[in-house]
Amino acid sequence: MTPRTGKPEPIPPGSTIGILGGGQLGRMLALAAARLGLKTHVYSDESESCAFYVATETTRASFRDQARLAQFARRCNAVTFEFENVPDETVRGLMQHVRVAPGPEPLRIAQDRFLEKSFLQQQGLLTAPFHNVTSEAQAREAFPALGGRAVLKTRRLGYDGKGQRTVKSAEEAARAFVELGGVPSILEGFVEFAFETSVIAARGENGAFAAYDPALNEHEHHILRRSTVPSGLPENKVQEAFAMAHSIAEALNYIGVLGVDLFITRDIGLLVNEIAPRVHNSGHWTLDGCTVSQFEQHIRAVAGWPLGDPVRHSDAVMQNIIGAEAEGWKQLAGQAGLHIYGKRVVRPGRKMGHFTTISPLK
Ligand code: AMP
Repeated sequence: MTPRTGKPEPIPPGSTIGILGGGQLGRMLALAAARLGLKTHVYSDESESCAFYVATETTRASFRDQARLAQFARRCNAVTFEFENVPDETVRGLMQHVRVAPGPEPLRIAQDRFLEKSFLQQQGLLTAPFHNVTSEAQAREAFPALGGRAVLKTRRLGYDGKGQRTVKSAEEAARAFVELGGVPSILEGFVEFAFETSVIAARGENGAFAAYDPALNEHEHHILRRSTVPSGLPENKVQEAFAMAHSIAEALNYIGVLGVDLFITRDIGLLVNEIAPRVHNSGHWTLDGCTVSQFEQHIRAVAGWPLGDPVRHSDAVMQNIIGAEAEGWKQLAGQAGLHIYGKRVVRPGRKMGHFTTISPLK
């Protein structure tokens, strides 16, 4: 087992990386690890975990099952996670036994939209204006200062538009609070963005930093439909976006890949929407557009290896295959850059695969 104190040694090929979570991100991490000669052990609480099919070892158990977690930790040389709703106590517990990257602090912050936006503002980064909301009355009171249109978001457990409502009056804000379950939430100003982008960046064990070109991200029904690189963002804004990601990674003493979602507005410029302490859907294009993908980059950081060069060799457009679109696989089968996640159950809005079309750099 890797020593728990001091700077850990790089983990040699043949070692095992534990991955908490068994979705497509875990699956693509496991495939990247295999390429570097590393084994993976996927730990998931869901029976249908598409990462199980490509991992060396698997455990299906609750993230609160201390005995199974300790057993898992003993079989791993380092552990990471592929989704941000792993309880942070699970990560803290595992750290008693094995090296875990990124640590529990980025997870704790990214799990709670109020903590996340407060942290970003403390770093001097711009976000949409926001208020903590714990009652209908607070939702009503917070609305008028937000410019006539706002988004109510639950503080925890929201993704792909789940747990959020756009509202146009104080009364709608109060109603949305009840409809979303009366749970702690934030009410934030609606941002009239020109477009959305994201920086996928990595910070290594030695503090090295590497960022991929930002993608232009287009959503449909709150789900990412397409990422295009280059994004069309002017070079000074690209550098600004990199600097934002770098300062976030430094402040969190981050090890691994992180995604930073940004809104670009015509007047204010770059606003941070959220941080993902993991590999990110808007970085899938790196599998086909770069020599070192975001998945390999993350495994390198977690294993204490040097980061790879994030340079891209091609322009790229990544499109998600969502829900029933996967049933049209015969039409997609001839497509280059095709990635199918092997999920058995199709559900509306479920990410089933993606494909990336590359073309020579322009
Ligand atoms: P989130 O769950 O915060 O990533 O939000 C999902 C998507 O909803 C974003 O990618 C945006 O397209 C949209 N969205 C979220 N927050 C806002 C906002 N304050 N103003 C405008 N659109 C938003």
